[in-house]
Amino acid sequence: MEPLFAPWRFTYVTSADKTVDGECIFCRALASDDDASTLTLWRGETCFALLNRYPYTSGHAMVAPREHVADLDALGEAELAEIMLTGRNLIRALRRVYGPHGFNVGFNLGEAAGAGIEEHLHLHVVPRWRADTNFISVVGDVRIIPEDLETTWRKVRGALLEIVGEEVDHGGA
Ligand SMILES: [Zn+2]
Repeated sequence: MEPLFAPWRFTYVTSADKTVDGECIFCRALASDDDASTLTLWRGETCFALLNRYPYTSGHAMVAPREHVADLDALGEAELAEIMLTGRNLIRALRRVYGPHGFNVGFNLGEAAGAGIEEHLHLHVVPRWRADTNFISVVGDVRIIPEDLETTWRKVRGALLEIVGEEVDHGGA
């Protein structure tokens, strides 16, 4: 078997983030002006995008409303639309950077559904490769991340800004 190179594990072990109980990482990222340290990729009018600090695969990103709400019912149609459009832009950016074979995109609503932070709604965008599930099933809960988060953040953010810029150039769509 190939040796695992998983630099996120080091971050997980040494980071104080996980011991901040009760504090919402989304609201904290929004309040911060240090996008590199919060892994914030983009800020929209009603929502924003950031990388998952404990990614399932390289480029695992999330879109969250600016409002600290748990349920889709709490958002208006414009907010819901911006979350989905931002998710689409993230998919475009991740395709450009990593060329994955597919994506899982979705909400985990409630702890029973697997939500890690259930008080603040977020859309997961997870790039997938054909071999990744085979790999996971072999080694249990080990996730392999071949790249450090700072590098991923720089690459995905760059591509996302390009894509948003191209959209503006073409007058939307
Ligand atoms: Zn929050």
